Amino acid sequence: MDILSIIERKKTAKELTKEEIDYFIQNYTVGNITDYQAAALIMAICINGMTAEEIGNFTMSMAKSGDVLDLSDVAPNTVDKHSTGGIGNKITLILMPIVACLGAPVAKMSGRGLGITGGTVDKLQSIPGYRTDIDIEEFKNNVREVGISLISSSLNLAPADKKIYALRDCIACTNSIPLIASSIMSKKIATGAEHILLDVTCGSGAFMTKKEDAKKLAKMMSLIGKWTNKDVNCVITSMEEPLGYTVGNSLEVIEAVKALKGEMAEDVREIVLYMGAKLLELAGLGSNLKENKEKILEVLENGKAFEKFKEVVIRQNGDASYLDDLNKFEKAPFIMPIIADRAGYVKKIDARTIGEISIELGVGRKRKEDDVDHRTGIVFNKKVGDKVEKGDILAYVHANNEQIAIWAVKEIEEKAYKIVNNKVTKRNVILAVDV
Ligand code: URA
Repeated sequence: MDILSIIERKKTAKELTKEEIDYFIQNYTVGNITDYQAAALIMAICINGMTAEEIGNFTMSMAKSGDVLDLSDVAPNTVDKHSTGGIGNKITLILMPIVACLGAPVAKMSGRGLGITGGTVDKLQSIPGYRTDIDIEEFKNNVREVGISLISSSLNLAPADKKIYALRDCIACTNSIPLIASSIMSKKIATGAEHILLDVTCGSGAFMTKKEDAKKLAKMMSLIGKWTNKDVNCVITSMEEPLGYTVGNSLEVIEAVKALKGEMAEDVREIVLYMGAKLLELAGLGSNLKENKEKILEVLENGKAFEKFKEVVIRQNGDASYLDDLNKFEKAPFIMPIIADRAGYVKKIDARTIGEISIELGVGRKRKEDDVDHRTGIVFNKKVGDKVEKGDILAYVHANNEQIAIWAVKEIEEKAYKIVNNKVTKRNVILAVDV
């Protein structure tokens, strides 16, 4: 077997065998296959797709490319959640401490930003000292003793996905159902959590722009869950508008801390309450979603959810004084307002445009070796549905360079915000549940 014939077969839309997939995954993981050969195969998969059987084999091969954790000796009923990506999506930072402090053990491996979508790892790393790259024993101990661990894909868990994920990001292969489904599910299988809630995003700022495609992706991941004995449940959420009030790494951590103290944007609140209630149900901690939502509101109010977040940050070496005093986070040197040039109602804040601008601001990466700037991003004063007067501040750009700040203000004004005369009704952000 050789890589050229495998590329040739996928280039001509043939179905790859399990042996061919294992050959590619094993050899690419150890460096026997080059990035350009892998890029050719991934592009062919992206264009020609894969059958359900190929996707299952690709997933298992990536899951087994490193260690596969068994958490049954650590805690029963461990939970995990994953989003297929979005703009301003800080849900993990808020949701996971909430469910952990209500008794659902959280074992979660997150990713860096991918394409225009943000990554939880980049956000966590904006807390000085926070280590996302702890070893397996520390990861297990944190789940056992603190009830939660949030790490990056630095452990030897699905290393093939780590390489392919970074490669896809810079060859325009992020929005493929087979590649997203296998990427997410390989990590979930390797990390070992029993119950998995997947947030499949849909809209201009998501990899799936149409609801039918989001459903297909959700169904594919549920099917892989069935094959591998994982309890997988999917929710579809809208990603037409950035989620919450901020886009940017430390800006989103600040918003998450405020949310953990009960101050939450409406769209964030809708997702946190539903997904939190569902995760508690999956973990066997209550099947009445309404009652579960009340439990969540209680830990937000009495400060236990925030304390749990602090606990995991301290455990993983982060400086928790930043969470107590949010002013300690370093600010970007250029903060410029975007001012409404007319009165009306906000009809649209285009998530894709905001994602593209955020990459230019340094929130995400253009090349896989780039560093992100934790300070930069966008803060929204006005969200979809809000009433606006001429001269109101719609948003602020946080930039590390004056020229980029001026450019971003203009782009957001001209391309992202749409203001209309008629009243705009806010839509629900959750589009479908139990998919
Ligand atoms: N998240 C992942 O882990 N992988 C993808 O491909 C997309 C989102």
